[in-house]
Amino acid sequence: MKVITTIKEMQEVISQFKSQEKSIGFVPTMGFLHEGHLTLVNRARQENDIVVLSIFVNPLQFGPKEDYADYPRDFERDRALAESEMVDFLFYPSVEEMYPNELSVKVTVQERTDVLCGSSRPGHFDGVATVITKFFNIIMPIRAYFGKKDAQQVAVIEGLISDFNIPVDLVAVDIIRETDGLAKSSRNVNLLPKERQEAPVLYQSLKAAEAAINEGERDPVKLITLIREKIRNDSTGVIDYVQIYSYPQLKPLEKLEGTIIIALAVKFSKVRLIDNFITNID
Ligand code: AMP
Repeated sequence: MKVITTIKEMQEVISQFKSQEKSIGFVPTMGFLHEGHLTLVNRARQENDIVVLSIFVNPLQFGPKEDYADYPRDFERDRALAESEMVDFLFYPSVEEMYPNELSVKVTVQERTDVLCGSSRPGHFDGVATVITKFFNIIMPIRAYFGKKDAQQVAVIEGLISDFNIPVDLVAVDIIRETDGLAKSSRNVNLLPKERQEAPVLYQSLKAAEAAINEGERDPVKLITLIREKIRNDSTGVIDYVQIYSYPQLKPLEKLEGTIIIALAVKFSKVRLIDNFITNID
């Protein structure tokens, strides 16, 4: 595995493989790798000749009061994990390398951002779409791997790819969880011990909603109330949102039908956690 820190070198390597008609699979991450990330890498490894993993904590997608400074980082650990997963190139640019000047053009996401994390994190998805556009142009992957844990991100990137005719196949991978159900996240290390014990309530509340749907409940308001009560009763976390929409359009529903997402975000003292459940209702 080779670590590359400059855009110029990354582009030189890519053009060499493109001329040999090798397929390139790309996994964008912010590092502090865990099994969720490694599942994406694994999938990319199976489906492509060359695997590029990027590690970049993108300042553009963090709000002024968010956890950019506290976001966990451990490059040496990440490098060893990437190597053991047979990554070919670890792209690890600095902020100065990615954004040497104030951008004269930014990607602005118009749809699918007025709900869920888009409404609680203004500008977040513009930052995501901007950095992903840059990465797609630098790495020119044939396939890019994203986790359904960030289901709204998947919906936004699908829109980006389609609207800008980017020749990339988006591969969306299922959520990987701890044994107690908590969705794996780099941010989990910033939970206090008591909060870590409580955090599986996010998943448990989604499972309770799933059980209610299986018993015939189709009213989104009732499901949201059920989830909110469970989180309030079983944790000290503060609910940021619990919402139900069509997926991937993210439009409101009066009655559950078609493919839907139940998504939630809960704030603990230093971390805000998200989770979701996507299902098909006949
Ligand atoms: P991040 O480093 O948090 O930006 O995540 C990089 C990629 O890994 C994103 O596409 C995430 O959706 C995905 N990812 C993060 N956690 C998980 C998880 N627990 N299961 C599946 N994918 C994940």
